[in-house]
Amino acid sequence: MSHAPQGSAGATRTCPHCRETILESASVCPACRHKLRFAEPTSTATTSASTPLRVEGSFRNPVDNGAWEYSMVLTIRNERGEEVARKLVGVGAMRPDEQRTFTLSVEMNPAPTGGKRTWH
Ligand SMILES: [Zn+2]
Repeated sequence: MSHAPQGSAGATRTCPHCRETILESASVCPACRHKLRFAEPTSTATTSASTPLRVEGSFRNPVDNGAWEYSMVLTIRNERGEEVARKLVGVGAMRPDEQRTFTLSVEMNPAPTGGKRTWH
């Protein structure tokens, strides 16, 4: 994990509700969806996040099948193909006639201005 300095693009903090590492600029925790207090009084405009990527898929285990186990793994790679993050989201089992829906969404926001851009 790379740690960007506070106030710059990619700066992170820990959600006080679920302890996930989230963006410092987030006003709502994407993990637990709790509202977070805004630390910066300067940010007046609340830009709605765009979701340039959203993938969803459902799997149903046939009735005449045995149980299946699954692992949901997410990876993030940079432009050189190097793995930046790899996360096991969840594991579980589907018994016959059970269904699971897996959704992946990527939210993007313009980075808060003011801090100097350290990327590229
Ligand atoms: Zn949270």
